[in-house]
Amino acid sequence: MTALPVRPAPEHDETISSLTTRVAASNGLHPHQLGLPTTGGLRSEHRAAARLAELLDLPPEQVTALTLSTYPPVLIGETGRTQRTWIHGRYPWRCPRCTWRGGAVLRRWHLALHPLCLQCPSLLSTSGADAHGMPEIGAPDTAARQAQALIAQDLEPDRLRSGSVQRRFANLYLLCEIVAASSDTQWPKLPAWEHDLRTQLPQPRTDWSRRPPATPSDAAIVVLECARALADPQRQRQLQGEAVERLDGHHSDAARALVRRHNAGVPWAARPALPNVPSSRTQPVLASLIKTIQRLQRTSGIQARHLPAWPVEEADALVPTRDYRRELERRAVILHILLSGRWHDPGAEARARRDLGLLTRSRRHRALQDAGIDAMRAAHVARTAEHLIGQGLVDHHDLRQRFATPTGLLTSLRRKVPNLPPASDVVLAAWCRLHLTPGPANEVTLADVRVLDEALNPEQRLQLLDAVDEHLHAVDPPAVNVPSPAVPAQDRSA
Ligand SMILES: [Zn+2]
Repeated sequence: MTALPVRPAPEHDETISSLTTRVAASNGLHPHQLGLPTTGGLRSEHRAAARLAELLDLPPEQVTALTLSTYPPVLIGETGRTQRTWIHGRYPWRCPRCTWRGGAVLRRWHLALHPLCLQCPSLLSTSGADAHGMPEIGAPDTAARQAQALIAQDLEPDRLRSGSVQRRFANLYLLCEIVAASSDTQWPKLPAWEHDLRTQLPQPRTDWSRRPPATPSDAAIVVLECARALADPQRQRQLQGEAVERLDGHHSDAARALVRRHNAGVPWAARPALPNVPSSRTQPVLASLIKTIQRLQRTSGIQARHLPAWPVEEADALVPTRDYRRELERRAVILHILLSGRWHDPGAEARARRDLGLLTRSRRHRALQDAGIDAMRAAHVARTAEHLIGQGLVDHHDLRQRFATPTGLLTSLRRKVPNLPPASDVVLAAWCRLHLTPGPANEVTLADVRVLDEALNPEQRLQLLDAVDEHLHAVDPPAVNVPSPAVPAQDRSA
């Protein structure tokens, strides 16, 4: 008979190492004296469980059921290898109030998801010595507690067998990883309690790629916001979009790998629903923009084919700055999707980009469906449509196709306008196209176009634009309304 005289019963969801400590202490012995390993880790857990079953005179399966290895791999990671694990290292997280009273450390707290106690709630603590004190930060606010409740509910053993619950955790971890990597002292925007917590951390942990966050505070400022975001598609779109955009500025291999893994892993939040279908997912800003565009379509007849890839305003430069170009492209893509009535179609964005001749098709550049739309951009998009209508609608789709093979045009230009500054055919064609249907070209060409533009005198410029106009009307009957070429700003002021 090896059972001990004092045999404390395992608490609900208690860890093996917690039970080991309590059993030894209540018998006035050190765990070693009872043949119990204290190092933790999944392998020694099973040995400890078998020994505890003997010492407590309990069925072995009852104690083994308390090991962390009963959790699915998505939650505990692949321990023993170099891959990521979500199990804490040496110091288990404890509740500064309840762990001290009950003595037990809960198994769920080992999964880096529970920065708060499930019962009281307090912010957990890593230090055993702190166990008798109160937490430094007061009770978490409602937002934090609700996010914690969401996670806790999914961690119920019978729910964990479900594939969809496991996927939710995989998504939560991935989102946490990318948000932590792109976080700083101001981003993401957090509710008051979490924000205060962040300001007290000397150096929040940003690398979650191998190990779980170092402290419950590190976890609280990332996990809770990510859990809330995954419960709300609009919030998820925003958080994901911002995180990826911020990482975009980092050029490290690690950041790029993270974005790739993230793009492959976390499903992008559901698309905005149709505006005429009542749904909590409908984005009010988008719904209102769609109505505005539909009204403009009815009154003016504007269609997707009337869009240039860079819907520049009259006074804009021939080659807008890179940031402004990106913004113009976003507006064109959004307008294209709305004008073709395809905001519910997942392929609409790719189609818009193809049609507008835009060069990047990367997922992170999605203009509408993932990043959503904010009120300011919606206002710009509506104004852009009004501007195009005000200028007189032009079939830019047709113009793009004509400029795709400008051979005849170039021969005729060089004949009609002698003594042009030296420029390759590609650069000359791009200069002409940018005046008539502004849109992308590669960076080198754009730089050369600027050089050519500066080298032209006002007379050559007008001759060139007249020749282009004449050519476009001569090639075949003017099926399109060709815009009067925009006269560059410096000529107007001259
Ligand atoms: Zn507690």
